[in-house]
Amino acid sequence: MIILMFGPPGAGKGTQAKLIETEYNLVQLSTGDMLRAAVAAGTELGKQAKAIMDAGKLVDDATMIGIIDERMDQPDCANGVILDGFPRTVPQAEGLDALLERKGLKIDHVIELTVDDEELFKRIETRVAQTPESERRADDNAETLKKRLGVYHEQTAPVLPYYADKGVLRQIDGMQAIEDVTAGIKSLLG
Ligand code: AMP
Repeated sequence: MIILMFGPPGAGKGTQAKLIETEYNLVQLSTGDMLRAAVAAGTELGKQAKAIMDAGKLVDDATMIGIIDERMDQPDCANGVILDGFPRTVPQAEGLDALLERKGLKIDHVIELTVDDEELFKRIETRVAQTPESERRADDNAETLKKRLGVYHEQTAPVLPYYADKGVLRQIDGMQAIEDVTAGIKSLLG
């Protein structure tokens, strides 16, 4: 099963993906986590990605498509994946279609967690107040959120009609309590 999770930064995509992956025997593939691991490991990719991520911008499409293409060939992905944070642009969505076709796979569900901008700023304020700086992501602050939201509305939101046209897009109210969002996702997955 291939599931795509959409939603603005801080909507809860990663939280929800982690809550459902084991139950459905899927692997959460978060491109953000992969890039942060590359930054921490000091690889060439990590060195290039760090400044882009800190500025709230996007790493180039070809690099991201290549990362997902390779990762999905690993044996642990055989039963399916939850893509969290990918695709983030229309060219990435087209690249994903091409690589899935090559692998003989198809997208089963595309889930959009809807959360309004005001709520996202409230959530980040809470995280900043409650989490020591050393434990927070470098891009987890109100200033970078503003830039990341701009990028989301400009470059990622236009991917949604791409999936709506294919008839696979479903929305879930991401402003509900975490367990209610999970229940909503599970009822979609059946
Ligand atoms: P995330 O953890 O998904 O919020 O991603 C953190 C940051 O990693 C983003 O703000 C981007 O700079 C970068 N990133 C993650 N996924 C992608 C992607 N699919 N395309 C481009 N950049 C990405």
